[in-house]
Amino acid sequence: MSEFETRAIHFKQEPDRNNGAVIPPIYLASTHRQSNIGEHMEGMEYSRVGNPNRNALEEALANLEGSKHGFSFASGMAAEDAIMRVLTSAGDHVVMTKQIYGGTYRLIDKVYGGTGVESDVVDLTDEAALRAAIKPGKTKLIWIESPSNPTLAIVDIARVSEIAHEYGVLTVVDNTFASPYLQRPIELGADIVVHSTTKYLGGHSDLLGGAVIFNSDELAEQFHFLQYATGPVSSPFDAWLTHRSIKTLAVRMERHSSNAQAIAEYLLAHPKVEEVYYPGLPSHPGHEIAKRQMEHGFGGVVSFRLKDEAAARKFCVSTELFILAESLGGIESLVNYPAGMTHLSLMESPIAVSKALVRLAVGLENVKDQIADLAQALG
Ligand SMILES: *Cc1c(COP(=O)(O)O)cnc(C)c1O
Repeated sequence: MSEFETRAIHFKQEPDRNNGAVIPPIYLASTHRQSNIGEHMEGMEYSRVGNPNRNALEEALANLEGSKHGFSFASGMAAEDAIMRVLTSAGDHVVMTKQIYGGTYRLIDKVYGGTGVESDVVDLTDEAALRAAIKPGKTKLIWIESPSNPTLAIVDIARVSEIAHEYGVLTVVDNTFASPYLQRPIELGADIVVHSTTKYLGGHSDLLGGAVIFNSDELAEQFHFLQYATGPVSSPFDAWLTHRSIKTLAVRMERHSSNAQAIAEYLLAHPKVEEVYYPGLPSHPGHEIAKRQMEHGFGGVVSFRLKDEAAARKFCVSTELFILAESLGGIESLVNYPAGMTHLSLMESPIAVSKALVRLAVGLENVKDQIADLAQALG
């Protein structure tokens, strides 16, 4: 069981011990019988502390990221919140990458800013700027996202982790856009991986989830404590659905990536498109780094800029196959207008996006149909 696809299908998914069911059952029980006071069967006690479906998913996620410990949460934001709670307190400082998911910026700046955690937004491709931003002793985390939402910026995960470690700082990588099939940050030297499993790991736009993955045994105790002490865990059904979806992750990511690559190339050649953001294009400033730290492809999200706001807004309501909706990572293609949807509440912040920007989450339909839809919407 050494290769990724094989582990994705079989790891912690053995047929049921009692009746041989090939697909493990969903354990909806909130509590488990104790054979004597304090004696738990297979460590199962109460569902906030542990559940067979959630535990299996957590072990599978850690395994696929090439790491030791995994923790599954009710959403990507709950997972990020757990990282901030465990690793920062008042007076600490966090460095965030300039191209960052809006919800992450809001969590660190608004929620934790309100509790006395300081933060700065820094261009992590600029080594001097990164070194200048680190406050030795105070900076606890450098928050990386690569490829980033929504402009697909690339950060050199190995290099930033090396610099962070010189100062005793931990790196967190939001690996949502790549998934462990395309990129494994811990193998590149990062300390902690976070996912919105709502996206590619879930893959079908029918669940909400998040995960935190790392190697440290000491941190594992703290995360386990936080899970049972505060309770933001995945439900058994969401955990089961996510695990079910991971079995097809490799084939889905390959097709998401090849469709997105073809679409990025199509858009690049289109006279109405001003700029295309996709790390698989040689013209992308992070292409060489992306080639080094990613494998099998560059993911399914392509963003592009049109002439102005009016053109971008018109495009977003002119597609037929691409559904106008937030989110990404599902089998169906979606179109999003960041300045008026996902990033609306951030337009006055340092991470505001261009009003002419359109984000596509390229799904698994036939790429000819996808391109035909984009062509009619651009026309
Ligand atoms: C969606 C997303 C999140 C937040 O995850 P939820 O599951 O929506 O809470 C975090 N990071 C990135 C990059 C995302 O796309």
